[in-house]
This record gives sequence, structure tokens and C-alpha cells, in this order.
Amino acid sequence: MGDMRLVVVGAAGRMGRLLVKAVHETPGTVLAAAVEREGSPFLGRDAGDLAGTGALGVPVTSNVDEAFADADGVIDFTAPAATVAFARAAAEAGIVHVVGTTGLSEADLAALAEAARRIPLVQSGNMSLGVNLLTALVRRVAATLGPEFDIEVLEMHHRMKVDAPSGTALMLGAAAAEGRAVSLKDTAVRVRDGHTGARRAGDIGFATLRGGSVIGEHTVIFAGDGERIELTHKADDRALFARGAVRAALWARERPPGLYAMTDVLGISA
Ligand code: NAP
Repeated sequence: MGDMRLVVVGAAGRMGRLLVKAVHETPGTVLAAAVEREGSPFLGRDAGDLAGTGALGVPVTSNVDEAFADADGVIDFTAPAATVAFARAAAEAGIVHVVGTTGLSEADLAALAEAARRIPLVQSGNMSLGVNLLTALVRRVAATLGPEFDIEVLEMHHRMKVDAPSGTALMLGAAAAEGRAVSLKDTAVRVRDGHTGARRAGDIGFATLRGGSVIGEHTVIFAGDGERIELTHKADDRALFARGAVRAALWARERPPGLYAMTDVLGISA
């Protein structure tokens, strides 16, 4: 098998530029195309120049069909509506789709699952090894401790982040709920404001901080009577998510169609 030809969509974004660099630097992958939306000021610019690798001879395009036709996979850290459209196009083209986009609704996730009937699709709100290990730890601690321990997920991100709670916070909440064998939908308290009354036993709470250039910090707190366990992950470099996504694409190339998580890629599924 030759090098895996990868398309980066949202190639001029914060993550997109790092993805172009990671694809270029990873042995076994080459940048097949770089996509931005119609009307983007970056159309025609060399994706490598934007990413700081030096020119790669790949001009940013808005022609998705053409880009996907000559590729083995697409890496997508964009926005929910765009990701749903890219999943349909990837399924049509029969290529791997790696989705890092967060803020996906249940309907968006259902559309990804539909596409995954035809292609290998890896979706994760966090592509880092550390956070995926943390989800496994959280599941275990939640399963071990009784409901007398209150679970709260605290996260902080940079001032430009548009969705809350973060995809990672929701992943960690889902892991805690799984550990307790309850549904996150029934137990999640995503915001608190005003006279909320006392905390309901079994709730999984979320608290969101935004500011500065923070790449991503998450703490899961298990608060009992007289003691507290806190599990924390801090990301120092966004490039780690990009490298994880490229690894996921290479892994998925060998797999049958299906919806996969980063824990599958890393071999740490429960
Ligand atoms: P960003 O800087 O806003 O980049 C998003 C890029 O996608 C922009 O260039 C945007 O273009 C482009 N885009 C949006 N719709 C498009 C479309 N229909 N066609 C082509 N391009 C389109 O955001 P970011 O910080 O890179 O984050 C992107 C996503 O990745 C967010 O959901 C974020 O939470 C997520 N993320 C995930 C992980 C993980 O590990 N899973 C890690 C970090 C970030 P415009 O500016 O023209 O809209």
C-alpha cells in the first residue's frame, strides 16, 4: 500500500494548519488536498505556507468532490454542520473520515453513524492519549465509588472556543455515567444559575471557564464527605491532537466500515 493520501478540511483554521503540518511530517501520509469554504479568503493560498511548513504545492480549494475523489481519507476539525456534510461526501467517495469537531448534536452524531455504515469513521472530542486514558480512569473510579461521591467536571479553554461544555468534558462525563451505569442525559447538569436548590444525588455537574490562550484543561472531581479525589489533564500543545488524528486515519485505513472512537485507535477500549 502506498502513502495514505489525506485531505484536511478547514485547512486554514487553528487545528487545520497543525493538521497540514502533521500530515506532512508523518511517514506514510501525504497531503492530497486542503479545503476551506466557498468565499474563504484563503482559497488559492498554498496550504503549506499557511501551516508554516513551506510551500507544498497544494492550493486551498473549495471543491470538495474533486478533493475527495483522489484521496484515501479526510481529517475534519471544523464545525458541526460542515462535518455532517463532509461525512456524507466521504461516504459517497468511500474514504476514511476522522472527525475532531466538537459541539455535535444527537442528530449530527446520527448522521455520522449513518455514514459509518459505508466507511471507517473515527470520531472523538479529544484525540490525545492522555485524555483517552483519563476517560478509562474516570470510568473505573466512578464504578468503584458509591453515589455518595458527587461527580463534577471542570474545564477551561481559550477565549475563542465556541461550544460549552467542551467535547472532552462531555466525554469525561459520559465515562463517569458509564462507570455508574446511568445515562448522562438523565444526570447531566450542564449549567447552574440562580436559586438551584440543593444538589440532586447522582447528578453529574459541569462547570465551564473561558479565557486567554488555554489549550484545554479538565478536572473530574469525586467529592465525598470529608475527602475528594481529583483527576486532571492539561494539554500544553495543540499539535498533539493533530498527531492523534493522523494516527487515527492510518489506523482506520485497515478497518472495515464502522464508527470508531479514539480509545479503539489507542487500544484502550473498556
Ligand atoms: P477554527 O480555528 O475556527 O477552525 C475551523 C476551520 O474550519 C475554519 O477555518 C473554518 O472556516 C473551517 N470551516 C468551517 N466550516 C467549513 C466548511 N463548511 N467548509 C470548509 N471549511 C469550513 O477552530 P479550531 O480551534 O481549529 O477548532 C475546530 C474544531 O475542532 C472545534 O470544534 C474544536 O472544538 C475542535 N477541536 C477538537 C479537538 C480534538 O482533539 N477532538 C482538539 C482541538 C479542537 P471559517 O473561519 O471560514 O468558518
